Amino acid sequence: MSEKKIATTAVRAGINSDQHHGAVVPALHLSSTYALKGFNDKRQFDYSRTGNPTRATFAQAITDLEQGAVGIVTNTGMSAVHLICQLLDTQDTVVIPHDCYGGSFRLFTHLAKRGQFTLVVVDQNDQQALAQALATKPKLVLVESPSNPLLRLVDIAAITKQAHQVGALVAVDNTFMSPVLQQPLLLGADIVFHSTTKYINGHSDVVGGVLVTKEQALGEKLAWWANCIGITGSAFDSFLALRGLKTLPIRMKQHQINANAVAKFLQQHSAIQQVYFPGLASHPQHELAKKQQYDFGAMMSFELKGGVEAVKILFDKLELFTLAQSLGGVESLICHPSTMTHAGMEIEAQLTAGITQSLVRLSVGIEDIDDILADLSQALDASQA
Ligand SMILES: *Cc1c(COP(=O)(O)O)cnc(C)c1O
Repeated sequence: MSEKKIATTAVRAGINSDQHHGAVVPALHLSSTYALKGFNDKRQFDYSRTGNPTRATFAQAITDLEQGAVGIVTNTGMSAVHLICQLLDTQDTVVIPHDCYGGSFRLFTHLAKRGQFTLVVVDQNDQQALAQALATKPKLVLVESPSNPLLRLVDIAAITKQAHQVGALVAVDNTFMSPVLQQPLLLGADIVFHSTTKYINGHSDVVGGVLVTKEQALGEKLAWWANCIGITGSAFDSFLALRGLKTLPIRMKQHQINANAVAKFLQQHSAIQQVYFPGLASHPQHELAKKQQYDFGAMMSFELKGGVEAVKILFDKLELFTLAQSLGGVESLICHPSTMTHAGMEIEAQLTAGITQSLVRLSVGIEDIDDILADLSQALDASQA
């Protein structure tokens, strides 16, 4: 899909769909239940856990953007991950990346401990380890690219091909990119999912998730489970997320202009040990990023030479950046993965994933770039004093 088409799809989602009043923007339907036309004569919707017009409009918008068959809106990003777990029986094996989102890592490890499936945790860029993992004939391979917080990439087309050869389904966490910057279904994946809490809603006022399947049958199976276990997203959250979605393409443009400038600035600063950003030519997977992504996104992380003490000073001195979990909102955020987003991971697992105490993650917002750079500059200078 060309960029123009993506922007058009995002902006036009649900516009002019109101048959009754001609409302330009789709209405917010809060009703929990819908009247039947008569005895055994149901309308399209009957009960809002199962189906809701506002949620359906949002689901269709994401399905169109990801170019899939079925979209399911869930109440959190984690419930989208959990929904995928409904595909797994006790004899099944799942392969997850060693550096996936901390919440996903916690969910998979704890469900595996209770015997719900067998878990294989692997560095998906280690070809030998990956081949060994796939030799166990897994039912599902979870992929996250770029990864959180180190912005490592996985070649989605290549891993999908390998996974399909052993009969595994591939589910890709596309939260860091959004469908504007990467479309995993077009790279061969079976399922793509997002925490809409992040870029899709984009205003840090909704917690939600969405999942899109390439095939109709798989989507219907997952939609059945979403209703069965009761994790579908609320109408109001869907309304807000749909509203946020309309500016996603243009927000991403500004996020990236700012992120590129921030990455270049950080790379030359003397307080910094290393910057992790796929947009830098020095990133080991810069070429892969250019190939499978439409652009580089606005998430990055870096290590401070001064260790955790320097991190504390940096956080203390920053005025514009907010010290908070989450990402993808219009406001710039900073976080310490080890004690925040990835605290659900044992320290040993963190170190295996490359998450050190001196690692800091940035979600670069869309404030004026001069103010962003001035804030980082004064705080970094102070951190090495
Ligand atoms: C936030 C996040 C999730 C979980 O989503 P919630 O909306 O917080 O439940 C999953 N994957 C990634 C990459 C995330 O950033």
